[in-house]
Amino acid sequence: MRDLGAELLVKPGTKVRLSKIDPSNTHGQQKAVAEAHLTKNLDSLSVLQHRLYAESRRSLLIVLQGIDAGGKDGTVRHVMSGFNPQGANVTSFKVPAGAEKQHDYLWRIHNAVPKNGEIGIFNRSHYEDVLVVRVHNLVPPTVWKQRYNQINNFEQTLAENGVHIVKFFLYIDRDEQKRRFESRIEDPAKNWKFSQADVEERKYWDDYTNAFEEAIERCSKPWAPWYIIPANKKWFRNLAVSEILIHTLEGMKLKYPKPAGDLSKIQFE
Ligand code: ADP
Repeated sequence: MRDLGAELLVKPGTKVRLSKIDPSNTHGQQKAVAEAHLTKNLDSLSVLQHRLYAESRRSLLIVLQGIDAGGKDGTVRHVMSGFNPQGANVTSFKVPAGAEKQHDYLWRIHNAVPKNGEIGIFNRSHYEDVLVVRVHNLVPPTVWKQRYNQINNFEQTLAENGVHIVKFFLYIDRDEQKRRFESRIEDPAKNWKFSQADVEERKYWDDYTNAFEEAIERCSKPWAPWYIIPANKKWFRNLAVSEILIHTLEGMKLKYPKPAGDLSKIQFE
């Protein structure tokens, strides 16, 4: 298996030009082999999560971003199913409401950061505050422009306190988005996913592209790297995300805690 993590990592300090990346690229992988490999990877993720949970000193935060229909929900379904729900949590961030609106934009995010031993999956995240917020001028540019630094500092603070962060941008192209919207209209089981608002958002494709490029470029850091996942092919997306998660968890060198005392001396009545 090629080192997909190394191939898809956005190296800190490098320029991001999405037009130079092919969202259908499968990095030399074959579908049938990849699907079998994913099954194996889910087993490995389960073992690694068990160690993280047992160690209970650090956590893993997975950020999922992408354009509408990019496959965030599908990634949660296919890849995160490798995790034991006891110890893994998905948080989906919507338009801020209620108390969320009364606080700074990072408040609700910090509140959802996984605790020691756990895995937190963010379906959308604080990056919305430099994406949709920027594209629709929900705050003035002077406000969102400060946020890249704030986000970097925030993520660094988390990382220094035991939160390992990995961020995925699921990259599809406009044609693939159209196909996915069409299938939401054609397939009764997917109708509920279709929203007129998605059609409106599609008009802002270029603005979103610019916003994603700047966010990824400015916020891919050694302590919180961004990976750009070519996501037109769902099977490749799942394989790549699972490979990178394994690589990230293995890099944490997780160990089961030492038993308290000498277990060989324990005697039962
Ligand atoms: P999803 O598309 O994630 O499955 P929804 O259809 O409910 O779920 O969309 C959630 C919406 O909330 C998206 O349009 C997203 O841009 C928006 N959103 C998330 N965070 C923010 C934010 N901080 N400010 C404004 N809008 C936000």
